[in-house]
Amino acid sequence: KRARSPTADSASEHQPKKVHTEVAEHYNARPDVGVEKRKESTIFRLKSFNNWLKSVLIGRYARPRDRVLDVGVGKGGDLLKWSKARIQFFIGCDIASKSIEQARERYRTMRNVPFEAHFHAMDCYSEPISNVVSPEQVFDMVSMQFCLHYSFETETKARMMLHNVTSQLKPGGVFIGTIPDAYWIVKKLKSESDDKLQIGNSIYSIRFERRDTFEKFGAKYWFHLEDAIDDCPEYLVHFPTLQKLAEEYGLELVYNKKFHQVYEEASQELDFNQLLYRMNVISEEGHLSAEEWEAANVYLAFAFRKK
Ligand code: SAM
Repeated sequence: KRARSPTADSASEHQPKKVHTEVAEHYNARPDVGVEKRKESTIFRLKSFNNWLKSVLIGRYARPRDRVLDVGVGKGGDLLKWSKARIQFFIGCDIASKSIEQARERYRTMRNVPFEAHFHAMDCYSEPISNVVSPEQVFDMVSMQFCLHYSFETETKARMMLHNVTSQLKPGGVFIGTIPDAYWIVKKLKSESDDKLQIGNSIYSIRFERRDTFEKFGAKYWFHLEDAIDDCPEYLVHFPTLQKLAEEYGLELVYNKKFHQVYEEASQELDFNQLLYRMNVISEEGHLSAEEWEAANVYLAFAFRKK
């Protein structure tokens, strides 16, 4: 039975600063198309695969009755996964206020949700989380799915992101996420002829403005994913830099695998294998195309544990 506090649906606790970044505008502009329309997408299988992969990550690390903070929650696409994990309490934050409204609406219309949830529009890389969440609130898990890389625009933003991830995470608590694999991206770019600034296929493209040096922060590229992301500015995450910085905030790396590796391992496990079919990654009609499979491998999954 859903437990609701008097403030559970309150949107008004925090008035976000007026932020008009390119990233927020990009995500605000994307409509929530609903389940049926999603099936018509050219990358339906890839989207299903990414969802399956997040389910694996959540399934591996979430425990019943966990208290979860989802940074960059978007339209709340993971709410059902958290529901299946039987968590107890959920806070979702995102810079895109329209996405937050949609996430709140999705939560409101879900049935038999075992957890209480609050949603806040805020710039999680420029403001402290204590602006919207009481500092006494402690989390067992923090999740950042497909969004941490936007914080690598500057070291200041990356530090604010890590402050927000760790300041209310309990010792032994877990921080999970998914990001583009900068090492793989740069290696692939360097394997192209000297004058090329772009990698990709008909489904995705990653376009740089230069390819001689890549700074630890602010290494900008433009990402396009068919039917999902239209040329959005993103930043490479140099993983050793993330790991070193994370250590400063008391986080120890416990898991770091490319999506293909996660698939190889998790698909051997009965539950996750069956989930591949239930989540439409594989069906009688087929599975991911070769181009979708390549696009899937742009990403890696990670988990840190707070010491
Ligand atoms: N986590 C969701 C998912 O997996 O479906 C959404 C992922 S979407 C690719 C990236 C999200 O990061 C967007 O919703 C975007 O608004 C959010 N984001 C980008 N910069 C942010 C910031 N500074 N603070 C909070 N959220 C941010």
